[in-house]
Amino acid sequence: VIEVGGEAPYAITVGQGLLHDGDRIAHALRGRHALLVSDSHVAPLYAQIVEQALHAARPDLVLARWVMPAGEQYKTLVQYGACLDALAQLGATRDACVIALGGGVVGDLAGFAAASWMRGIDCVQLPTTLLAMVDSSVGGKTAVDLPQGKNLVGAFHPPRAVIADTTALHTLPDRELRAGLAEVAKYGAIFDRQFLAWLERHSRDLLARDDAAMAEAIARSCEFKADVVSRDPYERGHRALLNFGHTFGHAIEAEQGYAGVGRDALNHGEAVAVGMVLAARLSTLLGLAPAEDATALESLLATLGLPVRLPERLAPAALLARMYLDKKADAQGLRFVLWGGAGEGRVVAGVPDDAVLAVLRTP
Ligand code: NAD
Ligand code: ZN
Repeated sequence: VIEVGGEAPYAITVGQGLLHDGDRIAHALRGRHALLVSDSHVAPLYAQIVEQALHAARPDLVLARWVMPAGEQYKTLVQYGACLDALAQLGATRDACVIALGGGVVGDLAGFAAASWMRGIDCVQLPTTLLAMVDSSVGGKTAVDLPQGKNLVGAFHPPRAVIADTTALHTLPDRELRAGLAEVAKYGAIFDRQFLAWLERHSRDLLARDDAAMAEAIARSCEFKADVVSRDPYERGHRALLNFGHTFGHAIEAEQGYAGVGRDALNHGEAVAVGMVLAARLSTLLGLAPAEDATALESLLATLGLPVRLPERLAPAALLARMYLDKKADAQGLRFVLWGGAGEGRVVAGVPDDAVLAVLRTP
């Protein structure tokens, strides 16, 4: 159990079989009404388990289920509206609770519905992807996308509880698992070189979804995120460190969409993996960190089955232009989260374009 501090503290619980633990989930519910929100992949696998567990623990609970189509393309105002309709249909009052069962898409949309229904009701997060367990379910950021861009409408709304069942990861597609491992490695890169070494030692167990290894990796990751979030709940400063690898990563994601890379496109975690390698190399080039640390990070990510090289079709100049659009520049140049070596993330402003281009051009 990890505690997240701030104005509305909450606990993150990680373990095996927690979706069956009706008492634990019910403990977070204050009123008589709850809406279980899930998506079309996750609901058939796990919704009934949660519903049965809740009914056994709280026979009086009025529980409805609302299922959205799976996929980022459905993290929209239209689906958000449909979720609010389901709350209205349920007769949800101020003490009702939204239970988000799924990955980051479900968590973000359900969280935003909870944040805005009657100006804010409770939300319990039951994350089922590794990314959601170590990243999106913790920290209180909720949102939906607009055609103009990702996460443009949202709110800060901390969950009432986060309950992560490692057994849910057994059905997660391989690529989604590895994408989550990229974010796990990110915590080691910016906060703790020993954790990077631990990941290297346990890479086989993690790729095999061993529950004990997974629980350890998730709990450690949540501790790092909880610490950052407690210190900077509204993302005014310190939380920026979590963007290690993300300035490059976002540029890759945006540019490959434009370049029409299509089916071979890197997903978010994969783009961040490449981005972390680039950030580490940029740190070396700027004389901030030893080259060995960059090499070691690259080899860990490769061991975890993640890409570490920029896809060939992405032009360095185009990526640089994307980073300027990403509003992370000032008069001296771009601002990056780099490192002073493994475990020492730091924000560096005024990075010269030449250095960025040199790193992007290195094979
Ligand atoms: P996702 O929710 O789309 O899940 C990935 C896929 O896996 C989906 O098809 C889903 O249906 C399926 N799935 C989920 N759990 C499964 C399971 N246990 N077994 C089988 N299939 C399963 O994607 P994600 O990677 O979890 O989350 C990405 C989203 O998270 C993005 O929208 C991103 O903006 C958001 N995000 C938010 C924050 C935050 O702080 N709020 C942080 C990072 C990312
Ligand atoms: Zn990320």
